[in-house]
Amino acid sequence: MHELAVFADSVAGCTKCRLSQGRTQVVFGSGNPEADLMFVGEALGFHEDKQGVPFVGQAGKLLERLLAGIGLTRGDVYICNVLKCRPPGNRDPQPDEIEACESHLWKQIELIRPQVVATLGNFATKLLSGRPTGITRVHGQEQEVTLGGNRVLLYPLYHPAAALYTPKMLEVLESDFRHIPELLGRSLVPESEPEPLVVAAATEPAVQLGLF
Ligand code: URA
Repeated sequence: MHELAVFADSVAGCTKCRLSQGRTQVVFGSGNPEADLMFVGEALGFHEDKQGVPFVGQAGKLLERLLAGIGLTRGDVYICNVLKCRPPGNRDPQPDEIEACESHLWKQIELIRPQVVATLGNFATKLLSGRPTGITRVHGQEQEVTLGGNRVLLYPLYHPAAALYTPKMLEVLESDFRHIPELLGRSLVPESEPEPLVVAAATEPAVQLGLF
């Protein structure tokens, strides 16, 4: 069994936050556990909660169309969400729910080791960038970062659910998507090792301190 599947099993009964009470099931993620390209959305809707698969509704159909445009299918990539359980009435994720759930996402990234992590919308972008800057300002701007212990390109995109109803946003999302193949071909520089500390000789401490 792939390590990711073992981890998914261990999360299936998660009760770290209140969302465990109203959910049908934990929806961990789907796709290729060794994908180079990973998408992180926000949270499940009604259909995802029932079917146990992320992005199965209208936003998912759009995501599939965008993927087809760059020659990929769902099976080539890995798709998951910041929250693995459905917030009631599709409300926004609450800060304490994100905090309770985020360790699952970090572990997923650690095990999948993707080259590109595309964040869909504000919640995933802010969490994974560690910055409060919104998606309107950062979409389409890749950034080399360390996530889950691996060097990755973080690539913020508009959320497909938002683009469904805003033609201008859809155009931008399509255009940002077209850069993904180039990002997948980039070579990432491993983070440089920290310089070894030069340990001063233990003799003559007064001299080392510049007292003489
Ligand atoms: N479906 C998901 O799985 N995630 C979203 O963010 C939106 C729809």
